Order: sequence, then C-alpha cells, then structure tokens
Amino acid sequence: MKAVVIHETGDAEKMKIEQIPIPKATTGYMVIKNSFAGLNFIDIYLRSGLYPVPELPHTLGLEGAGTVHELPEDYDQKEFKLNDRVSFIQANSGGYAEYSKVKIDNVVKIPDNVSFEHAVAAMLQGMTAHYLVHSSYPIQKDDWCLIHAGAGGVGILLTQLAKKLGANVITTTSTEEKAKISKSFGADHVILYSQQDFEVEVRKICPDGVNVVYDGVGKTTFMKSLKCLKIRGSLITFGNASGPVDPISPLQLINSISLIRPTLFHHLLTREEFCQRANDILGLISKGELKIEIGEIRPLEEIVQFHKDFESRKTKGKLLLKL
Ligand code: NDP
Repeated sequence: MKAVVIHETGDAEKMKIEQIPIPKATTGYMVIKNSFAGLNFIDIYLRSGLYPVPELPHTLGLEGAGTVHELPEDYDQKEFKLNDRVSFIQANSGGYAEYSKVKIDNVVKIPDNVSFEHAVAAMLQGMTAHYLVHSSYPIQKDDWCLIHAGAGGVGILLTQLAKKLGANVITTTSTEEKAKISKSFGADHVILYSQQDFEVEVRKICPDGVNVVYDGVGKTTFMKSLKCLKIRGSLITFGNASGPVDPISPLQLINSISLIRPTLFHHLLTREEFCQRANDILGLISKGELKIEIGEIRPLEEIVQFHKDFESRKTKGKLLLKL
C-alpha cells in the first residue's frame, strides 16, 4: 500500500510516499481501508521533531475514515463487521496511508447521513473542540470567550460549540478572508490579529476581560491572551501553531488565573469517554447542528506542498488527503 513515511524528522521534504505492507489485524486491533485521512497541526509537530515519534521510519497521520477491511480472528463482539463505515483517531496509527491498523476501542461507526469527509473532521479536531468547551473550561451561558485562529480546523468547530452553549465569542484570524469564514460560523466579533493589537481590541469589546481564552497559537499570543482575561479567568493553552510558549512565573497568574495545558488523549481515556465525545460530535453533524468547512482535499502525492501550505497559514477549515 501507499503511505507517507519519514525516516528522519525535519521539514516537509522529509515526507516520502513509499510502498509498505498492508497491516494485519491482531487481537484488539482492526484494519481500516481509508477513504480519507485528516491533516492536523500535530502532524507537523511530529514531522518536525517538536513532539517525539515512537520510532523511525514512521508513517504520519492520526485519523481517518473508511471501511472495516479486516477484524481479528478472535473478535467475537457484534459491534463491527466487515465493510462497516467507520472513523478513527489513534496516536501513531499511520493515517496517511491506504490502510491503517487501529485499536478497536478507537473506532466509531459513522451515521448513514454523515460523509467520510465530515466524519474525519469529527475526530481529532471535533473531539478537541468538545473537551475544550465541556471539560477544560466548561462554558456557561453569557460567558465571553476568545478563540484564536477562528478559521482553522479546531477554531471553526470550537466557535460553533461555544455559541451553542450560549457564549459570546470573539475570534482572531490573520486575513479578511478568514475573518469572513469565522463570522459565517457564528463569531460575534473577529479581530485581525495580524494587523491589530488583539489585547486592545478585546478590552474595547469586553472591558472587564473574557472568562476564557482558548489559545492554540501559542508562542506569539500567549502573553497577551493572559492579559485579555478577567479576574479568575481561564487560559487554556492547547497548541503551538506559532511555536512553543516561553516559560512564565506563577506570579504572572496573580489575578487568580487558571492555566491549563490539556491534551486530547487525556480526555479519551476509556471506551465510554471516546464514544461519548465521538457520538456527540457525529450526532451534531448528522442533525445539521455542527457545520463542517472542508478547506481542501488533495491526493497523497501532494502531501509535501500540503504541509508547507498548512504551516505557512495558507489553509482554513479541515484538510483532507484522498486515498
Ligand atoms: P489550524 O487549522 O487551526 O491551523 C493553524 C492556524 O494557526 C493557522 O491557520 C493560523 O491561522 C494560526 N497561526 C497563527 N500563527 C501561526 C504560525 N506562526 N504558523 C502557523 N499557523 C499560525 O490547525 P488545527 O485545527 O489542526 O490545530 C489548531 C491548534 O490546536 C494547533 O496548535 C494544534 O496543535 C492544537 N491542537 C491541540 C490539541 C490538544 O488536545 N492539545 C488537539 C488538536 C489540536 P491564522 O492564519 O488565522 O492566524
């Protein structure tokens, strides 16, 4: 099968399309024939070496959607059968490939009226948006929240979930085009943080500060994000799109600020938790209550340029590889 493999970490050119064996199902693991794989910013951290990969060579990708290709011989449960439409998320599952071997506990069935493309968006980015608004800082009606990169994969979903919970949402984007997209998904105010000082703009909209900042941008936004919070506000720093955040002193949290650095996989610890978050998001998509923006779909062969565009802020919404 074709797969995107790295033999060493580094820039996008390190990714090669190679022929590797189709994996075999083993106890607790099924093999999925992927129709689409999702791109996520974490793929860039793993490819570049910011986050460690377990071993090299390594097939990139953490999520996908397709059909059940093979179940282990000792699989005696009724939940999945061959050719079921499924989506999955799993660390180091090698999603950028025609087939992926995935722990059965990390697979979910796709509702009939949800496409493979939309099901992939429900996985890493959808479940992240879910835990951020329900677990990291549970949004209350009328809260004010600031979401950075509002036209990104996570940002679009986070904005919609925060609005559904009754929040007032301020987002940031780097371009007018992205600002329009963010507004179309429900943002009440969009700040062009490439041109405006977002701390000043937030204080104009919300003089006391916001209850929560969801910051997936990291290095370039972190300190100002802190200054946008009201007393007893929460800063959820969940990503490093602009680079890892510099160290800070606890004294900088003196306004009784809560600071959390959460990770999705710590919010999918049991099969029950995985299914609850996945089915909540897939259910909202199925009912038309959560809209998906597919930014771009490209073939596996274009992965190098796809990563370059992703890391240079040219993309929006969910990015998919067609397999
Ligand atoms: P996005 O689609 O949001 O892409 C990243 C966006 O970040 C860009 O489009 C850009 O938007 C913004 N950005 C700001 N500064 C930079 C920069 N210097 N370089 C690149 N991008 C920049 O990606 P994802 O939705 O996949 O992920 C969003 C964030 O969420 C990432 O940091 C990711 O690591 C994190 N994440 C964390 C998880 C967790 O559990 N902790 C799980 C999933 C994602 P703009 O042009 O508008 O500035």
